[in-house]
Amino acid sequence: MSIDGRGAVVTGGGRGIGAAVARELALRGARVVVAARSTDEIDAVATALRSGGADAWAARCDVSQPDSIASLLERARRHVGDVDILVNNAGIATAAPIATLELAEWTRLWTVNATGTFLTMQGVLSGMVERGWGRIVNVASIAALRGARYIGGYAASKHAVLGLTRSAAAEVAPHGVTVNAVCPGYVDTPMTDATVANIVEKTGMSEQDALDAILATSPQRRLILPDEVAASVAFLCDESAGSINGQTIVLDGGAISSH
Ligand code: NDP
Repeated sequence: MSIDGRGAVVTGGGRGIGAAVARELALRGARVVVAARSTDEIDAVATALRSGGADAWAARCDVSQPDSIASLLERARRHVGDVDILVNNAGIATAAPIATLELAEWTRLWTVNATGTFLTMQGVLSGMVERGWGRIVNVASIAALRGARYIGGYAASKHAVLGLTRSAAAEVAPHGVTVNAVCPGYVDTPMTDATVANIVEKTGMSEQDALDAILATSPQRRLILPDEVAASVAFLCDESAGSINGQTIVLDGGAISSH
């Protein structure tokens, strides 16, 4: 395997897409540091990976705190040596019309989704450039490619992630490092469960009707599986993906292209 033995950090690795990415990278031989705030979740993921024979560690980190990111990367280097792969997956989503979106909520979305991605990326880039090899994959969203009602703060923060991805890709292109993004539609994770619950609460719809409204946004009428996203992330981390840089893989069942 071409990422065998590579050191990898996956933020937001305790559940959902991040847990699937950590599993997939470990399966391909990477030595994986699983980071998020909930220690029970990251411990469970790391323990499961180790019991499957992988090298994996849990490291608590809050990507909204610069010191916490610095400490994560320091611990990661102690565990895996060089961090050759970074998956910026930690993220939050909330919904509100722009007219009433509170500044504190806007700031929280940006701090976690955009600034967290920026700072974590910044913490590994120079090492990757010096060594002449690195893979960064940012988990954005189809909300990085278009707007929609009630997701102004989230969409803006994810558009920022894509701008950051493309600019970083241009900066590191001559140095064996690639920076790419994946843009999924609705994925079957606790985040989407929370979205359904929020629609139910705000509209009085039944849970099934709320889920159907979400599924109606996909031409495939289904949620994407975390493992499908993980497979694309792992592909972008592979040695063979070395010429793919500054790109986005859109996993949306054709929603954007048929819009
Ligand atoms: P989940 O809510 O299921 O998981 C999010 C992960 O991020 C958790 O491990 C969470 O752990 C972690 N996280 C959240 N805030 C922070 C923080 N401040 N510091 C460190 N870790 C944090 O979400 P998904 O798996 O669905 O989403 C993962 C990524 O994919 C996000 O960036 C999301 O925006 C994106 N995405 C999701 C889609 C979906 O439909 N679900 C669609 C498109 C993109 P903890 O709370 O313990 O810190």
